[in-house]
Amino acid sequence: MKMRYIHGGVRLVAATYRAGAFQLGGGLMMTAWFSAGCSSFVAAYLLRDEIDRIVYIDVANQHPDSWRFLKDCEEALGKRIEILRDVKWGGCIDNVIEGKRYVNGPAGAPCTLELKKRVRQEWERQFTEPITYVWGYDAGERKRAERLEAGMVEFSHRFPLIERGMTKADVHGLCQQLGIKRPVMYDMGYPNNNCIGCVKGGMGYWNAIRRDFPEVFKRRARQEREIGHSCIKGVFLDELEPGRGRMDEVMPECSFACLGM
Ligand code: SF4
Repeated sequence: MKMRYIHGGVRLVAATYRAGAFQLGGGLMMTAWFSAGCSSFVAAYLLRDEIDRIVYIDVANQHPDSWRFLKDCEEALGKRIEILRDVKWGGCIDNVIEGKRYVNGPAGAPCTLELKKRVRQEWERQFTEPITYVWGYDAGERKRAERLEAGMVEFSHRFPLIERGMTKADVHGLCQQLGIKRPVMYDMGYPNNNCIGCVKGGMGYWNAIRRDFPEVFKRRARQEREIGHSCIKGVFLDELEPGRGRMDEVMPECSFACLGM
């Protein structure tokens, strides 16, 4: 994909600025964060006539079908999605894990900070006008939405799925009605379209990754041993019994959990 320019440590991979969509120093810019998941797409879709910008922070470890989904969403939205990617770590969670020598733990996941939060903050610095963010939290995620609002008081926020009482099932139903094929990770049984081998996954998740993406499983298991810390509390991946865990374990969608606070 063609690179347009680099803003600070963040690379803007592709973007279309609609002339007059916002004015520096005045007005209020409404920006939807797209995560390449169904919920963030539907949130943006519901407010498509009010939104000025839709932004996606790409991480190299996402399933390549995310690009197909993004293009389909752009078509349904009638708008381009701005794509940002971290430059320092090449947008890659393996580089962050190995460079920081930290996988995940009480202090959080370094990939969250380096590849999402820092990228968002650098992007925000170019604006002086007030920003309203649009998020894809659904009716079952009110508490998470409240925590995000409390942690990002400098912005105003919209939660169109919560405003309409929409559940995850409603979101997937709407994607289907619109004729948009959801990202393949959902069809494989994963609860979201996070990175393949997300460090926030539980036992059931990691057993599925071992089955579907054995190379990713082996790499993460090696990284855990080299660093001396596991993704899953108390269990190293190379000791995880194949039958353990369930796929309905709670695992937040990356963009929402990682971008805020
Ligand atoms: S999806 Fe998981 S692995 Fe990827 S950036 Fe977010 S927390 Fe890190």
